[in-house]
Amino acid sequence: MIQDIAPAHLNNHYDPAKIADENSIILVFSDKKNLLGRLDSATKEISFPRLKDFKTIEKEKLTYLFSIDDEDFFLLLNDSENKDFLNSSEVSSYDFYNLRDFRSIYYYPQTYVYASFTAYQLAEWYMVTKFCGKCGAENEHSKKERAMICPKCGNIIYPRINPAVIIGVIDKEANKLLVTRYKVGYGHNALVAGFTEIGETLEETVSREVMEEAGIHVTNIRYYKSQPWGIASDILVGFFCEVTGSREITMDNNELKFASWLSPQEIELQPLEYSLTNEMMKVFKEGDVH
Ligand SMILES: [Zn+2]
Repeated sequence: MIQDIAPAHLNNHYDPAKIADENSIILVFSDKKNLLGRLDSATKEISFPRLKDFKTIEKEKLTYLFSIDDEDFFLLLNDSENKDFLNSSEVSSYDFYNLRDFRSIYYYPQTYVYASFTAYQLAEWYMVTKFCGKCGAENEHSKKERAMICPKCGNIIYPRINPAVIIGVIDKEANKLLVTRYKVGYGHNALVAGFTEIGETLEETVSREVMEEAGIHVTNIRYYKSQPWGIASDILVGFFCEVTGSREITMDNNELKFASWLSPQEIELQPLEYSLTNEMMKVFKEGDVH
């Protein structure tokens, strides 16, 4: 999965005193999930700017994000404060590339894909927490933890993480898995999935989503694994469960274009092994669901 970068390790400990050095990676996002980089047209490899590539950047405008092993990642917000630098010739020799294409079109080591997805989540959060939602004053960075603090009313805002479930529904008797495809967006095989609503448990999300998307009841809901998915600010929580009662699927036509019981042989996996969904389909295919 995307986060499985061992032996490399992402250290997300917040260190407000961290200063960028010459080799620190500088991440700049545009709207629509694009990241500043440079494409080698021959190898399709994307590289990202480091501090040493930018002579006119103001170091104090960088925000420390995290490190992977001994490589530090800093964020430069794409906002009006940094407009002059972002319009400079130093930056115009780079282009913006869509994060989703890092999974398919461009070559990019998995460690950096994971770093980029996670950095995007923080970049989005920093963009929407510049001002206090309670009183409208400009927020400041906390000096002790990853948080934004309003100097006027004391409001503290922590990074937002949206919980969502991925559900492998199994028909044990027929040895089949409920496989779906979304109506819009990602085109490959998927599983029933959905966001946890306020006031419900993760298990209740599982039951509700399967009913909403496929019109069936489930039982024996058990946890499998989880996965951070930064480009949607999600923590995805995987569950397996079994259908109970009727196997007949009533598909939610608003969300899905395909929902069917498939045997292990019939399941076509996603092209890349980044998603929890894909791993869950894979373990079912291999007969390893317990
Ligand atoms: Zn405030």
